[in-house]
Amino acid sequence: MPSKLNRFGMAVIAASLVALATVSPARADFNPISTEPTAPYAQPADANVPQRGCATTLTDPANATGSTPAVQVIYAWHEGNGNNYEAYAERIAKIVDRMDWLLDESTDHDQHVKLSCRTGYGTGTYSGYAHALVVPEKIEAADVSGETGPGIVADDLEAAGYDNANRTYVVFEDFDGTATAHCGGVCVATSNEWDSGTMMHELIHLYEVDHAKVSEVPGVLAVNDVMTSQYNDWQIDQEFNTYYDPSELSALFHTSNHPDTRHLNLAAWSRFTVPTCCDVGYSNDLLTAQERTIESQAPYGTPSGFTVSGGGWTQVTPPGPDGATSARYYDGRRSLTMNVQSYADGFVSVTRRPAVTAGQRYKFFARLTTPTSGNVKLRLSWYNSSNALISTSDSPSRALSSSWQEYSVSAVAPTGAATVRLSVVSPSGQNFAYLLDSLQLNRCDNGRTVDGCRIDG
Ligand SMILES: [Zn+2]
Repeated sequence: MPSKLNRFGMAVIAASLVALATVSPARADFNPISTEPTAPYAQPADANVPQRGCATTLTDPANATGSTPAVQVIYAWHEGNGNNYEAYAERIAKIVDRMDWLLDESTDHDQHVKLSCRTGYGTGTYSGYAHALVVPEKIEAADVSGETGPGIVADDLEAAGYDNANRTYVVFEDFDGTATAHCGGVCVATSNEWDSGTMMHELIHLYEVDHAKVSEVPGVLAVNDVMTSQYNDWQIDQEFNTYYDPSELSALFHTSNHPDTRHLNLAAWSRFTVPTCCDVGYSNDLLTAQERTIESQAPYGTPSGFTVSGGGWTQVTPPGPDGATSARYYDGRRSLTMNVQSYADGFVSVTRRPAVTAGQRYKFFARLTTPTSGNVKLRLSWYNSSNALISTSDSPSRALSSSWQEYSVSAVAPTGAATVRLSVVSPSGQNFAYLLDSLQLNRCDNGRTVDGCRIDG
């Protein structure tokens, strides 16, 4: 499939997909309205989408000097199709409200897009809000008979004064344009396919996030993520371990395939509000970044946040071939090595016991591999409020392989349970080493899906 690279070297495969899937319409019939993504569940009806509102207002939207960082929404038109601003302003505002909804709804954290509005259009009606939010701009140099690239759009905005570093531009193209993220003088997320999934996808690209990865095979992408299947999915990094972790802003991720070394966390972007815990959203994770990806210590060190007992000892995995040091194509980070000794069952446990609610279902995931062979099982150990063990829930004992595989165990917290201990158990009688990475603990009864635990990897 053809792939273009923008200034950051980000592949814009999605733009190519959109282009391939779309026959350029006759200009007079140009219809930019696209289909909204409906997975993992339908977005609210138009009337029920929360109105995001304005984070900041300017009398002149082209003069953002001194203003808080924010997103400026542009309606871009050209001579060929004419200026349909009045027909589209509220439609665009509704799509932007959906972009904000999907950001907030993706997780159990409250986070929103900071939108820049102009003054003088009233705030009491949706029409007034839409006119304040969406600013029209004629793209004089646009190609009225063919495709207009994002560079032309960016140059036009820059020339019109939309060039402040504290603004990121989301451009709804009312002509044959491109779904892409582009920086050249000014950074623009553009699309002539108007839906919240596509626009959020391109906006997120501007924070140097590439397409989401969910595999140890380089180049294989997550199938359920706005950064891969934005025409179908609206959710953002369901695993909190690819590019977005609103629970811990200090967590940083490789956002492209190794050996790309960019590290960031989309949740820390200045164009978004600071995330706060907790509302109800699609996905959640009850672990910290350190517990999830063993990142804080250097190789050979003692992995903090974990406790070992019984037969074995741990260390942060020493340097070695890429695939042998962490699930790095997946999360790009370190891993923990457990050196299993045969004299007793060996336990690697997350030291902290996350709080749980009795009667609710939880699911513990981990990625494991071994260069040799051996068996382990995953265990949930339930404790009451007096720190006494109530019971344990084990997965079957499974033979590890030489590739990173994900394993999980799911159970309902028993009566009286207040906290849970997560462990990987190596039955006695074995001498081998395994690697542990990409831990996650989901609360399944999240109120949004029948089973809010993510799908097994
Ligand atoms: Zn893309």
